[in-house]
Amino acid sequence: DGTVLRCCNTRELLEKHLKATGGRVLTRFPPEPNGYLHIGHAKAMFVDFGLAKERGGGCYLRYDDTNPEAEKKEYIDHIEEIVKWMGWEPFKITYASDYFQDLYELAVELIRRGHAYVDHQTPDEIKEYREKKMNSPWRDRPVAESLKLFDEMKQGLIEEGKATLRMKQDMQSDNFNMYDLIAYRVKFTPHPHAGDKWCIYPSYDFAHCTVDSLENITHSLCTLEFETRRASYYWLLHALDLYQPYVWEYSRLNVSNNVLSKRKLNRLVTEKWVDGWDDPRLLTLAGLRRRGVTSTAINAFVRGMGITRSDCSLIRFDRLEYHIREELNRTAARAMVVLQPLKVVITNFENGSILDLDAKKWPEAQGDEASAFYKVPFSNIVYIEQSDFRLKDSKDYYGLAPGKSVLLRYAYPIKCTDVILDDKETVLEIQAEYDASKKSKPKGVLHWVAQPSPGVNPLNVEVRLFDKLFLSENPAELDDWLADLNPHSKVVIPSAYAVPELRNAVVGDTFQFERLGYFAVDKDSTPEKLIFNRTVTLRDSYKS
Ligand code: ATP
Ligand code: MG
Ligand code: MG
Repeated sequence: DGTVLRCCNTRELLEKHLKATGGRVLTRFPPEPNGYLHIGHAKAMFVDFGLAKERGGGCYLRYDDTNPEAEKKEYIDHIEEIVKWMGWEPFKITYASDYFQDLYELAVELIRRGHAYVDHQTPDEIKEYREKKMNSPWRDRPVAESLKLFDEMKQGLIEEGKATLRMKQDMQSDNFNMYDLIAYRVKFTPHPHAGDKWCIYPSYDFAHCTVDSLENITHSLCTLEFETRRASYYWLLHALDLYQPYVWEYSRLNVSNNVLSKRKLNRLVTEKWVDGWDDPRLLTLAGLRRRGVTSTAINAFVRGMGITRSDCSLIRFDRLEYHIREELNRTAARAMVVLQPLKVVITNFENGSILDLDAKKWPEAQGDEASAFYKVPFSNIVYIEQSDFRLKDSKDYYGLAPGKSVLLRYAYPIKCTDVILDDKETVLEIQAEYDASKKSKPKGVLHWVAQPSPGVNPLNVEVRLFDKLFLSENPAELDDWLADLNPHSKVVIPSAYAVPELRNAVVGDTFQFERLGYFAVDKDSTPEKLIFNRTVTLRDSYKS
């Protein structure tokens, strides 16, 4: 009839619980180590660690490691590192597998109490019987028989797939997650943390609530898709007379033009659609970090969304970009880089002469505080962006054109006096005159890079530009989601020109390349060649 053991020791349970917690809030962040963490986990951490911190409590980092096939030491190590990078300090680091012995004993107790049975239905049969709300033929077998078979499962005497332990829940319920969920299954797979000690493993539904209870979690927070499992969560703790944490759900985060499910991320990585778990186009935390996004910006984004139950599911990537710009605008030093160089020869500037000019490192740079500026050489060979030159001028255009002037930022106005074309009308070189008096005030202001000394090319760097990974807003809902990958999500510019100041940049440094966006030094950089990832663009403007 679905009734389970009456809990007769509430008072005693409460006393024990309060003794363990001292009345403090205890939460847990329970990732399964089957992949790298993503921006959705940043939300989960904000909820789990954030609540505990706000209340002066603690939050466990608990590896929910009950599926050994999918789990790896690499993921365990990465998760610990990235949780700390996100700014969270675990109260303790635990593993569901640390409790395998306790969980096994609880399972035996559950059978003894008549609330679990060893079943032999195949997955297809289980599905069919659940649809028909029919009991498994083994549901009412004697307790002693189930105890014996469960012991045989544990000893490795029963083949994989030939037996499961099922909770005797409520096959007539309106909630399909009460149809005798599986508690244990046989798997002859070694475990990344527990080794080869076990060949039976608890399911999420058996392990999650019991470990929450054993750890004296006060508030067990999870995403909304687990709401239908709440009944089973309480059912099991009740059946075992265990302390019951308070379960709370909040909505899952999804971000436009990308995927977050670890199953999908795993395919993208293993089938090499992207360059590893930390590919800057992914919304994994490692990918975002490599792209130049800070944990502060990620946390600000998550905080800005709020923690609700409403399923406004798809958040636009722009919202994250906003928080990235907010931060990098304050923290990233300015520099100049030309992605597609076009040579400009300044005919009235002495060949061989070099001027050392001051360029602003920080937007608010004033006076002559040395650290507020960097040195930038100016010579008779200057490079501007190809896209900043047009043969035909027009009114709303602020770039360079024949007969027109622009200001080279931090330097001089120049006027285009001649254009050298090849026989296909491609612009090869521009000739210009500079205005040493700086009297003319052109509207257009360009970034530029000059030869640092006669006959020597500017510092050559590689620049990687990223665009959305998927063309559709919500690729996860497409059947053929891989066909929706944006073929132009990554553009590599192998030789851009940079100001000499960038020479000493190191991995992780972030810069604003004037008019191009914010960039971070990539880990693929070598002493010979720096590589920059574009974190985010600016709102483009020619005006100073
Ligand atoms: P996936 O489907 O990607 O495997 P999961 O929920 O199985 O997701 P876990 O590593 O088990 O991933 O999740 C750890 C915690 O993070 C859980 O509490 C889960 O609810 C939460 N979480 C996972 N993805 C998101 C998301 N997109 N938004 C908010 N919280 C999430
Ligand atoms: Mg999970
Ligand atoms: Mg999962």
